Amino acid sequence: MTDKRAVPVTQKPSSTSKNHADPPPSRVTEPEEDGEDYIIGGFLGKGGFAVCYEGTLARNGRVFAMKVVKSHMPQKKMEEKFRTELQIHSKMRHPFIVQFYRAFAFKQSTYVVLELCPNGSVMDMVRKRRCLSLPEVRRFMIQLCAGVKYLHKRFVAHRDLKMGNLFLDRNMNIKIGDFGLAAMILSDKDAKRRNTLCGTPNYIAPEVLDKSKGGHTQKVDIWSLGVICFAMLTGFPPFQSKTQEEIYKKVRSLTYVWPKESESTNFIPEEAKDLVSACLNLVDEERPDPDDIVEHAFFNMYDGCIPRQLDPACRFNKPIWL
Ligand code: ADP
Repeated sequence: MTDKRAVPVTQKPSSTSKNHADPPPSRVTEPEEDGEDYIIGGFLGKGGFAVCYEGTLARNGRVFAMKVVKSHMPQKKMEEKFRTELQIHSKMRHPFIVQFYRAFAFKQSTYVVLELCPNGSVMDMVRKRRCLSLPEVRRFMIQLCAGVKYLHKRFVAHRDLKMGNLFLDRNMNIKIGDFGLAAMILSDKDAKRRNTLCGTPNYIAPEVLDKSKGGHTQKVDIWSLGVICFAMLTGFPPFQSKTQEEIYKKVRSLTYVWPKESESTNFIPEEAKDLVSACLNLVDEERPDPDDIVEHAFFNMYDGCIPRQLDPACRFNKPIWL
């Protein structure tokens, strides 16, 4: 469902093997004289230009995710993008952001050593479950807001927040990943320069579509939070359509419909609808900040429980609350 057809627009190359590095050797070594060895393990997933494998640090058996990218990419622009991704991601350190450890070159590839998220993504979970329960949605939204607050305080806009980029660690905590489209936006001047069409159609904010609006800011991430919240509750993104053009038309005119109670697997309270509609505001300055979101009534309802822990079994089955 949802993210699958949502190919990133521009910037990130399409998924052809020409863009991907050759399969890595079974052991890779950091270039320094006393550099560490990693044993390459199972395949984790493939993105626009990276392939991810498990990597075990030979010295102590610690397991990481190793993102493998061709050192020399076919297009200069892709190389620049990857450099920006490394520059921004390497400076981030937060419990709800995939931890970046290091990057090094070995033979023809660059290896990025990342925190391993063994429970897949929120996208995988929603695909298997159809939609998530209110307590799960609350927990994920609160963690997501904490991560996004951290990014925005450091002037970083992620610009590609979507369920497929929200990874899950072994304790089912959200880890924001894939900084391939992230940008530093420090001033209005910076915002004005940010007028490249980037993101994933279903999650894209209206001001990104309209270049004449004078660029975009960190508020594009808040729009995506609204889309993510809607999609976790219903199982599909609000502006889903057959073609990209139709999606953009719906985004520009803010046309989305909640499923009827009789058709929905989930009971969706008015508070949740109100929160989503606050994030999906066509006027970017009027969207709430992460701090406002977590104060919303949706998180404070009479039965608004927020689970402290989630069992990884909830990737497949609706949890039973005791
Ligand atoms: P790209 O930058 O090419 O889009 P991604 O960062 O999306 O690549 O990674 C590609 C895939 O690798 C993801 O969809 C996911 O399946 C897997 N992956 C990425 N990072 C991790 C991680 N930290 N832990 C586990 N799997 C990961």
